[in-house]
Amino acid sequence: MTTSRNKICSLFDIQYPLIQGGMIWCAGWELAAAVSNSGGLGLLGAGSMYPDVLDEQIQKCKAATVKPFGVNLPLLYPNIEAHIQTIIKYKVPIVFTSAGNPKIWTETLQKAGIKVVHVVSSVKFALKAQAAGVDAIVAEGFEAGGHNGRDETTTLCLIPMVRKAISIPLIAAGGIGDGRAMLAVMNLGADGAQVGSRFVASIESSAHANFKQAVIESQEGDTLLTLKELTPVRLLKNPFFELVQAAYQNGANAQALATLLGRGRAKKGMFEGDLEAGELEIGQIAGNFEAILPAAQIVKEFITDFNTAISTQSKFTL
Ligand code: NDP
Repeated sequence: MTTSRNKICSLFDIQYPLIQGGMIWCAGWELAAAVSNSGGLGLLGAGSMYPDVLDEQIQKCKAATVKPFGVNLPLLYPNIEAHIQTIIKYKVPIVFTSAGNPKIWTETLQKAGIKVVHVVSSVKFALKAQAAGVDAIVAEGFEAGGHNGRDETTTLCLIPMVRKAISIPLIAAGGIGDGRAMLAVMNLGADGAQVGSRFVASIESSAHANFKQAVIESQEGDTLLTLKELTPVRLLKNPFFELVQAAYQNGANAQALATLLGRGRAKKGMFEGDLEAGELEIGQIAGNFEAILPAAQIVKEFITDFNTAISTQSKFTL
């Protein structure tokens, strides 16, 4: 019997098709390097980094791992050209783009020898990203933390529909907190999994200790998608979240919500650890986490659970 190499492992030259999401304020070089050194793919979250910070983070990540790593680049980032130049300057091999039109930067990055993956939340945008020539797609379901699609399609429904629509490699995201869920999304047609929330509650994550603790203490039902009139975002319920709910009840329009949100809320909550006034972006699956763990242990447990689930599954037929 011949076995073919997993498409995501081949595309990125990695051991496991497990990608750590490039979460703003949480994904610095310590986390990305630890995940890459463990056989997955680590990503730097460039959305919360000024250009000089990304430059320094890439240098540190290169010094900490000889394995491939990538950068997550939200396309609505204000200084995007500076980030792109830095990524090309350091020959970062992989870029995950999100929150914007993949037509604009894909060719420039690919001409520099960089693999481009675009994050989408619907079949429509998956088709657009494929047409823009990206190398792979991340399809992220409604369970995911932080910024999210408007259609509320869950990972369980989104993955088979995107799989049917596109022919390029597909990575599933949203609600994947252990190796059993990774196997589930691969059974639905994904070639690999991107994991955010589980890595927020890792030792190496740059999130504030208060936020990490809040993540592992959270329970089922503690997050909700809100602020759809601005950019939809899944938040952990806290006093700031309650202010947003009260504003809705008082009939706040988009302008009033933007004023309430202000600037730098995500930094305040996730990076500075202000659990009252900050924005706490995390996925639904956080309710299942019990401890803050080293990233290497998270990767190892994912693979062990994945393999155990496969061998259990293979013993049953209906
Ligand atoms: P805000 O506008 O509320 O605040 C901007 C924050 O980003 C500040 O905390 C600021 O840090 C920091 N920052 C980093 N680089 C820059 C820069 N070049 N110019 C201005 N600010 C910068 O944004 P959010 O906190 O809501 O979002 C942060 C970032 O997340 C956005 O810049 C965007 O790129 C990204 N984002 C990603 C999305 C996605 O991936 N789907 C969706 C929405 C946003 P400081 O306080 O030190 O000035």
